[in-house]
Amino acid sequence: MAQTIWIHKLTDAQKAEADGMAYICEHLFQALTQTGKLTKVKGWNPLQNASTKDGTTYRALFCDSCAKNYNNGHVRMAKEPVLV
Ligand SMILES: [Zn+2]
Repeated sequence: MAQTIWIHKLTDAQKAEADGMAYICEHLFQALTQTGKLTKVKGWNPLQNASTKDGTTYRALFCDSCAKNYNNGHVRMAKEPVLV
C-alpha cells in the first residue's frame, strides 16, 4: 500500500546540515522543529530525485521509515508547516 510522504522545504542554513538536500520528510521536520537542529536519530536517507505525482523531483532527506515506504510519485509538498 503506497503511502504519501510529505516533504518540507529547508532554509539555506538547514540545507547545509542536511548534506545539501533541499527538503526533508515530515518526521525529520518534526524532530527539527522540536530540537532546533537536524539529527540522524530517525534515520538519514538522502534521495536525489524523490518524485511527486506530476513527475517533479526533489532532493529530499528521508527518515528510515519514509525511505522504506517510498514509491515513485508518492511525495507531496507540505504547504503548511506540520507542528506537533
Ligand atoms: Zn519520515
